Amino acid sequence: MDWGLIGASTIAAEHMIGAIRAQKGHEVTSVLSSGADRGASYAAIHGIKTSTTSLEEILADDQIGAVYISTTNEKHLSQALAAFAAGKHVMCEKPLAMSAADAATMVKAAAEAGVVLGTNHHLRSAGTHLAMKQLITDGVIGEVLSLRVFHAGLLPEHLRGWRLSDPAAGGGVIPDLVVHDADTVRFYLDEDPKSVVAMESHGSMSQGVEDGAMSVWKMPSGVQVMTHESFTHPFSQSGLEIYGTKGSLVARNVMTQLPVGEITLTTAAGSQPVTYSDHGLYDRTMAQFAAAIDGKGQPSATGVDGVKSLAVAEAVKQAAVSGQATKVDYCGV
Ligand code: NDP
Repeated sequence: MDWGLIGASTIAAEHMIGAIRAQKGHEVTSVLSSGADRGASYAAIHGIKTSTTSLEEILADDQIGAVYISTTNEKHLSQALAAFAAGKHVMCEKPLAMSAADAATMVKAAAEAGVVLGTNHHLRSAGTHLAMKQLITDGVIGEVLSLRVFHAGLLPEHLRGWRLSDPAAGGGVIPDLVVHDADTVRFYLDEDPKSVVAMESHGSMSQGVEDGAMSVWKMPSGVQVMTHESFTHPFSQSGLEIYGTKGSLVARNVMTQLPVGEITLTTAAGSQPVTYSDHGLYDRTMAQFAAAIDGKGQPSATGVDGVKSLAVAEAVKQAAVSGQATKVDYCGV
């Protein structure tokens, strides 16, 4: 299947072009950029046959069966709706849109067009998270009591553009990282937060958007969840801790794009490291998406997952701004 890239982005260059090409029979043949010269040079660097500044041109190409949208967030909705109307399958970057309501519109449009929509929440595809999820499913740590996510790091210099300065493009640590944490927590617990309380910070990197957030979520089961996200922490380690009635899982450096990290399982029998598969996170995500296009199963994170994880992030933002506990609105999905 031929793919069109909608957006000449860093994430496509660093991870997704390779992940698409890792799927047998899948090739990236065209890239859309708002700048003709930039698009041509991006295409040349990445061995992509054509570049264009016209969305219509990419979508009119009958050879292209699927598109990967990785433009800035405010463009996802209109580009995805156009792609669905042209009958293309869509792998879309997180957050799916600027609001959960817009994201829900995307899910409805994809279903009406009969195409597959996936959300690029790559953490579900990590060997570390899959191994920990399996241990929970197998009952090894008993009933889960609480979960904590640490996702504070230092935003790499080459990403310090719109993320820090442009709320209209979807900048801020909440659309960037809280959505991922929401998706990861939903993946582990198989339930969706009901409401949240939160605070945000405008620290050393802020140029108009929040660069840090902490929140506590109320889950339907009563499991306690807290998360921390930041762009400004140079010496932090990311992590995830899950405490259960029979054991705990403590993982370090696992909130990442790479197949790395350390996991320790502690039960009455003592502590031991947990082994995991070191496959590429994006490769696995794309393998599942390619299978879904072939009618075999679902993308690892569906469009509905994209809506729900964005809805949680939206509630975190509202709670941080208002100082009030905020109910999560899943927009009927
Ligand atoms: P980039 O800033 O690299 O790309 C976004 C847009 O900015 C591109 O579409 C491009 O526009 C423009 N752009 C990029 N580089 C330049 C440049 N040097 N000069 C001029 N314009 C440029 O964003 P990211 O790749 O970091 O993020 C894109 C999307 O992917 C976002 O939605 C983000 O949330 C998501 N993301 C997801 C990750 C994941 O792991 N799932 C990780 C990182 C990002 P044009 O196409 O018009 O040329």
